Amino acid sequence: MNVSIRRFEQKDIQNKIKWINDNSNNKYLHYDLPLEYDKTLNWFINNKGRKDRFDAIIEVDGVPVGLIGLLSIDKKNSKAEYYITLGEDKYKGKGIAKLASIKLIKYAFEEIRINKIYLFTEIENKSAQRLFEKIGFRKEGLLKEDIKNGNEHVDRYVYGICKDDYYAKEQIHIYHFNSTETLRLKLNLNNNNFYIKRDDLIPISFGGNKARKAILFFKDIERTNSDCVVTYGSSSSNHCRIIANIAASKGLPCYIISPTETNKITANSKMIKLFRSKVIKCSVTEVKETINKTVKELKREGYKPYFIQGGGHGDIGTQAYVNTYKEIIDYEKTKGIHFDYIFHASGTGTTQAGLICGKLLNRTNTNIIGISVARKNPYGGQVVLDSVNSYLKNIKKDKLSIEEINFIDDYVLKGYGHYNKEILETIKEVLIKDGIPLDTTYTGKAFWGMKEYIKKNQIKGKNILFIHTGGTPLFFDDLEELINEI
Ligand SMILES: *Cc1c(COP(=O)(O)O)cnc(C)c1O
Repeated sequence: MNVSIRRFEQKDIQNKIKWINDNSNNKYLHYDLPLEYDKTLNWFINNKGRKDRFDAIIEVDGVPVGLIGLLSIDKKNSKAEYYITLGEDKYKGKGIAKLASIKLIKYAFEEIRINKIYLFTEIENKSAQRLFEKIGFRKEGLLKEDIKNGNEHVDRYVYGICKDDYYAKEQIHIYHFNSTETLRLKLNLNNNNFYIKRDDLIPISFGGNKARKAILFFKDIERTNSDCVVTYGSSSSNHCRIIANIAASKGLPCYIISPTETNKITANSKMIKLFRSKVIKCSVTEVKETINKTVKELKREGYKPYFIQGGGHGDIGTQAYVNTYKEIIDYEKTKGIHFDYIFHASGTGTTQAGLICGKLLNRTNTNIIGISVARKNPYGGQVVLDSVNSYLKNIKKDKLSIEEINFIDDYVLKGYGHYNKEILETIKEVLIKDGIPLDTTYTGKAFWGMKEYIKKNQIKGKNILFIHTGGTPLFFDDLEELINEI
C-alpha cells in the first residue's frame, strides 16, 4: 500500500463534491451543503496560484481517497492550519490518514519551510483527536464556544505541532553495530580457553539478548505500521525494560502486563516507570486474559497495537540469535580458532533456539549448551525444540528431535531468581579478574553452571565461548548482597 499526496487539480472536483456531501464524512466539517459543481469550480479557479494555501489529494496506489492541505499559510509567523478528510469508506481505519499527514507535515516543514502547524477540532470529535495525537500534535488549549454549528455554539480544541518537536519524535534510532566484542577471560579451569561474547554491550538500553531481539521487533513494528506496544514480564524483566525504553524513544505508548506475584522493586521496574509505560498488574493465571483484554481495548480506541511475547519469544527473537551465530563464525574465521562449546543462560529458550538454528544453517559442530535459569526438563527443553522447529518450518528445513537440544536443568536451584554462595563467588571473581558484571538471576547463575558442567563432564583443553546475555541493571540489584558476602 503506497500512500502519497499531490496537488489538487481540476479533475478532482467531482471527488471532492462526492466526499463532502457524504454524511459519514461531513459531521464536523463546516461547508454550506450540498456542495455543487459550479461553486466548487469557482473555488478552484479563484484559489489557483494562491500562496496562502496548499490543497492536496491523498492517493493510495494511485487511487484518490481523500483531501488534505494547509490553510492560512502565514510566512511572517511561519505557521499554517492543517485539514484532512478521508472520503472513501473502505480506506478508513487503515492508517492512511496518519501516513498522508506525515507527508504533508514534512512538505510543510521542508518545502514550504514553516515552523508550526495547528488545527481546530470540535471537542466531541474524539477519533480525529486520537489521530492527531498519534501523528504528534499536542493539545494546546480549549476554545470555548468557538464556532457555530447550526444554532449551537460549540467548543473546540486547538492542537499544534512545531518543527523541532516533530523531528525529535520522528527520529528513528537505527541501533547499529557490526558485532559485539569477544574477549579472552582469565578463568583457568581444566586447561580450557575461555572466551566471552559481550552482548551486554549492545549500544541500547544496557544491551543484552533482549536488545538484540527488540531491535528486530521494532523493525517489524515499523513495517506493520503499528502505533503502540503490548508485552509482559516480571518486575525484573530485562525484556520489558528494553521494550519500554525503545518505545519511549519513538514516542509509542507501551503497555506492560506484569504478574502481581513478582512485585519486587528493581532497577528495571524503576526504569520502566521512568519511561512512563503503563504497567497493568494481574495474577499469573490471568496474564493471557489481561493481554487479550488490553489489545482489544486498544483496538477499540483506534490504535494498532503490536504484541510481543514475554522475553521476546517467537521466530523474530530466534532470528536475532541466528544472526548472532553468524557473528561468532566471523570471529572464528578472523582469529583462526574454533569454539568447541558455546554456553549461555537459557530462559524461554529463544536465544538457544537461534544459536541451534544458526549452527544448523552454517553446518558447524559446536556444542551449544543452554544453562537453564528457571525451567526444568522435559518442559524447558521441549520449548527450545518447539522454537527451533517453528523457525526451521518457516525456512522449509527438516525438524530436529529432542536429543539435539542441550538444555541443562541441573543448576536451576529452587527456580527463577534463586542463587547460592557459589554464584555470588563466581560473580565476584569474574568482576574482579576481568571487570565484567554478571547477575544472580541469569548470567552469574549460567556462568557458575558452566563451570560445574565442565567439571562434571571433565571437559579439558577446549575452546569455550560464554555469551554474556546482558541484564546489567540486575547486577546493581545484587550489589548489596555481594558486599554482604564479604
Ligand atoms: C532473558 C534473558 C536470558 C534468557 O534468554 P531466553 O532467550 O529467554 O532464553 C538470559 N540472560 C538474560 C540477561 C536475560 O535477560
